[in-house]
Amino acid sequence: MFARTATAAGKITAFMVEAAWPGVSHGAHEDKMGIRASSTTTVSFTDVRVPSQNMLDVEGKGFKVAMAILNNGRTGLGGGAVGGMKALIAHAVQQAQSRKQFGAPIADFGLIREKISQMTVDCFARKAPSGWSPLYRFGHRGLLGGSRMSKVFASEALQRSAYEGLQIAAGSGFMRDAPYEQITATAAFDDFEGTNEVLRLYIASVRAQGTG
Ligand SMILES: Cc1cc2nc3c(=O)[nH]c(=O)nc-3n(C[C@H](O)[C@H](O)[C@H](O)COP(=O)(O)OP(=O)(O)OC[C@H]3O[C@@H](n4cnc5c(N)ncnc54)[C@H](O)[C@@H]3O)c2cc1C
Repeated sequence: MFARTATAAGKITAFMVEAAWPGVSHGAHEDKMGIRASSTTTVSFTDVRVPSQNMLDVEGKGFKVAMAILNNGRTGLGGGAVGGMKALIAHAVQQAQSRKQFGAPIADFGLIREKISQMTVDCFARKAPSGWSPLYRFGHRGLLGGSRMSKVFASEALQRSAYEGLQIAAGSGFMRDAPYEQITATAAFDDFEGTNEVLRLYIASVRAQGTG
C-alpha cells in the first residue's frame, strides 16, 4: 500500500502490509462483468501499525515504487491483449469460412476480409518480434511513456478486435454459448494500471515537453 508520511513535502511512501494484521479487512467478493476468475474486493485499514522494516525503498520515494510496478503491469497487460486478439482472429476466420450467405462463405466478401485484415494488423503491430515492433521499441528501449503507449494501443486494439469478431459472427455471436460476451466484457475494462485517458495525458505532456 501507499501512504503520505510526515516528510517535509508530505510525499508518498510504499509499505508491505500483511492481510492478516489487526485492522486490515476486506469487503465482499465483487460480482464483476468480466475477469471473473480473479477475486476483487475493497481493502480497509483501521489503525494498522506497520513496522518500519516493512517500508519499501526509502521514505518519500513511494511514487517511484508505484511507477515501477505499474510499468511492469502495463507491459504485461499489453502482452495479454495479444493472446485475446489471436483467439479472436482464430474464431473470426473459422466463422468466416464456415458461414455461407448468398451461396458463398462470408470470407469471400470484401468487408469481412477487411475486418479480419485489420484485426491481424492490430495483433501484429503489438506482438512483432524485437527490433520490428514500434511498441517493443517504445516499451523496452527506455523511451519515456513506452509502457503507457503499449498498454493504450494493445487494450484498444483488443476492444476493436472483440467488436469486429462479434460483427463477423453476427446473430450467432450474440448467443451466450459463443465466446463474445465473456471476451467483450473482459476487454471493456482497460483502466488497470492507469486509465487510458490519464495515460494519454501523460504521453501528451511528455511529447509537449520534448522529452520522449
Ligand atoms: C477488476 C478490477 C481490479 C482492480 N484491481 C485493483 C488493484 O489491485 N489495486 C488498485 O489500486 N486498484 C485496482 N482497481 C481499481 C482501478 O485501478 C481503478 O478502477 C482505475 O484506476 C480507475 O479509477 P476509478 O475507477 O476510481 O475511476 P475515476 O478516477 O473515478 O475516473 C472516472 C473517469 O474519469 C476519468 N478521469 C479521471 N481523472 C481524469 C483526469 N485528470 N483527466 C481526464 N480524465 C480523468 C478516468 O479516465 C475515467 O474515465 C481495480 C479495478 C477493477 C475493476
